Amino acid sequence: MGSFSLLDKPHVVFIPFPAQGHINPMLQLAKILHSKGFHVTFVNTEFNHRRLLKSRGPDSLKGLESFRFETIPDGLPISNADATQDVPSLCESTTNTCLAPFKDLLDRLNDTVSSNASLKFSFGLPSACGFLAYTKYVKLIEEGYTPLKDASYLTNGYLDTIIADEIPGMEGIRLKDIPSFIRTTNPDDYMLKFVLQETERARRASAIILNTFEELEHDCIKTLSSFLPPVYAIGPLHFLQKQVKDKSLEILGSNLWKEDQHCLEWLDSKEPNSVVYVNFGSVTVMTPKQLIEFAWGLANSNQTFLWIIRPDLVTGDDAILPPEFLEATKERSMLSVWCPQEKVLSHPSIGGFLTHSGWNSTLESIGSGVPMICWPFFAEQQTNCWFSCTKWGIGMEIDSDVKRDEVKILVKELMIGEKGKEMKEKALEWKKLAQDSSKYSHGSSYKNLEKLINLLLLSPK
Ligand code: UDP
Repeated sequence: MGSFSLLDKPHVVFIPFPAQGHINPMLQLAKILHSKGFHVTFVNTEFNHRRLLKSRGPDSLKGLESFRFETIPDGLPISNADATQDVPSLCESTTNTCLAPFKDLLDRLNDTVSSNASLKFSFGLPSACGFLAYTKYVKLIEEGYTPLKDASYLTNGYLDTIIADEIPGMEGIRLKDIPSFIRTTNPDDYMLKFVLQETERARRASAIILNTFEELEHDCIKTLSSFLPPVYAIGPLHFLQKQVKDKSLEILGSNLWKEDQHCLEWLDSKEPNSVVYVNFGSVTVMTPKQLIEFAWGLANSNQTFLWIIRPDLVTGDDAILPPEFLEATKERSMLSVWCPQEKVLSHPSIGGFLTHSGWNSTLESIGSGVPMICWPFFAEQQTNCWFSCTKWGIGMEIDSDVKRDEVKILVKELMIGEKGKEMKEKALEWKKLAQDSSKYSHGSSYKNLEKLINLLLLSPK
């Protein structure tokens, strides 16, 4: 890479975990810091870089002199597929592969930035509740509760009270609600080890950045702050990012799939609060049978819906929606493969969101005042779901063994029922608090961002 011209600017290096849900908030933070006068280097894996170029065009990663993109290999076999990479394989290969090329990159960057510039980098941006639950893994392992002795512990409820006792502020939480990697009987489970390693590393960081806001997750943030390095809650980042006035950054995007803009035109033709938006994010997969249950549940609810079905959402070869379903819903549905989700969620026609409870999706829903039906898939999605349903009053959970009747009942309740109305009111209250938290100079997240910037500017190289 060429040398920077504004040599005295501080320099931040971002290296997100190479999955959509990590790249998005990290790019948002990168843009915010760039607008505050930092040089940015944003590091993607070669695989994702290729996908971004394909989905968004070459200009999307051109960057500026002071906002550069770099790549490193992810260690997985080279693939030209447009599909989501397997998360455990990616965790393992990035742990084993990325350090050396990343260090080389940092050496090169150190050669090209002035000695007055400081080089920093940052990792993940999870929910406080999910992160807090992850930090409890170590104790549950030390006390011999997990790996589970046998599969009966998955359902016998034996660990529920123990878990609730271990996590202050989460009274009533069950084994099934804490991040999924704990539910293993395999002592060599890679994800269990990975989480332990990452939470241990977090203790040695100079700061922890969370994409959340104090008003939403006050208690969990407080608990995390009591045993971790300083915690900065600076979310929702997509709100703070709106204050970035730098037009030259608008083109820089992070969607790995091409966005279908027609969804927005279709939504324009719908009444306010009349559409159920269905999207399970970038990683969730389901069986053909589960797809069919969701399809008939949506059809039988008689509600209008926008359903995003990623090409790799369904496992196996027979991922086909029945022609009878397509015929029955053609007047009141739109199907697509990927959409501009933030814009979709904030469209006035959206009345509810059937989601997998990924943290970005949850926060984007909160930021748009949209209540949810939650079908968590893995990782901390179960915890996000539990908080959405039991603490924030904006969600209803669908059983993991999804059945069409339950989908029908919950979708109707969400869109036209009493509980749906209450959840909508609650969601609008959270939306207001989210907006307030990102307000220039007085909002809690805005103030935390300023503190974080001071830390970055003051800390030694
Ligand atoms: N997303 C999108 N369009 C889609 C599906 C998802 O723009 O059709 C974005 C969504 O707005 C969110 C991210 O992809 O920012 C998904 O992150 P999340 O944490 O919700 O779930 P994950 O994909 O990590 O499971």
